[in-house]
Amino acid sequence: MDYSHLQKEIDHCSKCGGCLVACPIYGELGVETMGSRGRVFLFSQYLEGNLELSKKFAEIMSLCLLCKNCTATCPNGVATDQLVLAARKELVGKYGLPLIKKTVFHHLLKSNGRLNLAARLLTVYQRTGLRWLVRKSRLLKVFPSDLEAKEKLLPDIQGGQPFLSEVAQRISVENPQKRIAYFTGCMTNYFFQNTGRSVLNVLKENQVEVFLPDQLCCGVPAEANGDEETMLHLAEKNVKFFSGLEIDAIITDCPSCGMALKEYGEKLGTEEAQVFSSKVKDITQFLMQDIELKIPTSNIPVTVTYHDPCHAVRGLKIQKEPRELLKKIPGLILKEMNGANQCCGSAGSFNLSYYQLSMQILAKKLTNITETGADVVATACPACEMQIGHGVRQNHLPQKVMHPIELLSEAYLAGD
Ligand code: SF4
Ligand code: SF4
Repeated sequence: MDYSHLQKEIDHCSKCGGCLVACPIYGELGVETMGSRGRVFLFSQYLEGNLELSKKFAEIMSLCLLCKNCTATCPNGVATDQLVLAARKELVGKYGLPLIKKTVFHHLLKSNGRLNLAARLLTVYQRTGLRWLVRKSRLLKVFPSDLEAKEKLLPDIQGGQPFLSEVAQRISVENPQKRIAYFTGCMTNYFFQNTGRSVLNVLKENQVEVFLPDQLCCGVPAEANGDEETMLHLAEKNVKFFSGLEIDAIITDCPSCGMALKEYGEKLGTEEAQVFSSKVKDITQFLMQDIELKIPTSNIPVTVTYHDPCHAVRGLKIQKEPRELLKKIPGLILKEMNGANQCCGSAGSFNLSYYQLSMQILAKKLTNITETGADVVATACPACEMQIGHGVRQNHLPQKVMHPIELLSEAYLAGD
């Protein structure tokens, strides 16, 4: 594989060690190789042929949240996450994917039919008392790897069916001020349907016409696990699904999806993909920058603290837009927490692979949330919502965890 485009990241590392303090994993484990400096060095040694793709190498590369905190802190902006992704790709090239990941990426993510079926089975598990039975029987306790605790990570599926199957493919409004296509992402489609409904309600209130074309997973889970082939397959399909629509923007409510969609153009190299990527915007960015947002008339007397998702604040560079959006809601008080832009420990499937470590990182976030005394934790990322929601439930905290768009939608509905 040609990694010459990543050589500059290696060359730019002056080995100053400034990234160590920024790395949440180094913060927990205190091991040099877990910081950016260690990972850059190890990957450079592999490229030079001095290092094998050993189990230890694989473990070090998998113990990265891809949170970009090191890059943001590094005086030279070394993009360690790109090196880690390249290392994971090499590992998959040599050893292949583990069976579970292969099944999920090759058979579920590439087919909405199979993914919908899996979601239905999960709904049956959650709603028929089967989950209660499994939990009561302590059956999961006999499995290793904190399976009992991990099972609680999954929130209740809010709707009985995928969000995309309950909505029309085109939602027209009179005299639209903009036309957009909505890429919902798997988390909103399968777990957080209320976020999807809120997005549609907010867009309707602002006279925006919405297209909801067929769509597949954005590809982030596959890419983060070194499966580039699946990521490219999904990218090609999604670009095709959205082509030909006369739209001003493609919006997402998930910054990880947003980052991935924005990279389709560069990854696929076609004009069609470049046009697609150039239109991608986070919903908060679209509402604050592209239209004159309608101000809700009702008072929502609630204190909110905002958690910055890594891929929003350091990936898409979105920090002020969700806060500005929240401040437009009359009566809402925004109270900043310490370390609002620090990772919550979710990082896709990191919380499944390294549950205890992920919970240690989350504990700091929960302390910061509690200190604010807020009623609601808002975060513009469904994966962070899942992680923080899990922490809130496990620790019996009083906060509700919501996407900012849900709060805005509630404010509009209260004024109707
Ligand atoms: S990655 Fe950046 S901060 Fe870390 S050691 Fe290298 S130059 Fe210093
Ligand atoms: S991306 Fe995050 S977890 Fe990975 S090395 Fe950088 S700071 Fe550490």
